[in-house]
Amino acid sequence: MTRRGVVLIVAVVLIAATAALLFAFDPFKWGPQPEPAPTYTIAIDAGHGGRDPGAVSDGIEEQEINLAIAGLVTALVNAEPDLVAVQIRTLDMFIPLEERIVRAEEAGAELYVTVHVNSYTTSEPEGVETIIDTTRELDDDGWVLGELIQHGVTEATGAVDRGTRSQESYLQRTEMPAVSVETGYITNDAERANLLNPEYQAKVAQGILNGIRQFIDWKYPPVSQE
Ligand SMILES: [Zn+2]
Repeated sequence: MTRRGVVLIVAVVLIAATAALLFAFDPFKWGPQPEPAPTYTIAIDAGHGGRDPGAVSDGIEEQEINLAIAGLVTALVNAEPDLVAVQIRTLDMFIPLEERIVRAEEAGAELYVTVHVNSYTTSEPEGVETIIDTTRELDDDGWVLGELIQHGVTEATGAVDRGTRSQESYLQRTEMPAVSVETGYITNDAERANLLNPEYQAKVAQGILNGIRQFIDWKYPPVSQE
């Protein structure tokens, strides 16, 4: 290499190093900084699993539908800039109910949503319903979350709206808003076919996400930049 070449390389390296230093110690960055935007942790669970398949109809296990939809909800939640999902069950495995709540709480979740599929002894019943536990007062945030998710899913899917109601449930083991979405009836032939269809599953997931989104925006109104 010529001497001129060496000088040129040294000059380029020096300029690059100076630029990097200036960038790293940018004096403009030392002024008051805007607060980092808060992020909210959302616990998404897939009901049943492993030795507990949930309802079974026509050879289809509830747990597999729950897992598919929960995975889609998790992806949608993680696509929101201020939300982070923690998916409690990610495999076809048994997780005790109390452990599901513990995991959500240890993750610092703002809320807990578990995905289920309904069943009945006859094939007629169909539609979506959302469950909260019987210990919740009427002004508990769990009701708000449940009603927003119920509305979100029925609006996104066009499924029959069976409403939001309370029921004895392990969801009472936490104080955070906690709901169970019964996304349809596995015992209804048309609804079971829908629930196995990835496009329909995506609509259900979008509806759940819409409810979660509305809940977070209601509970933590975005701060104006003014
Ligand atoms: Zn279930």
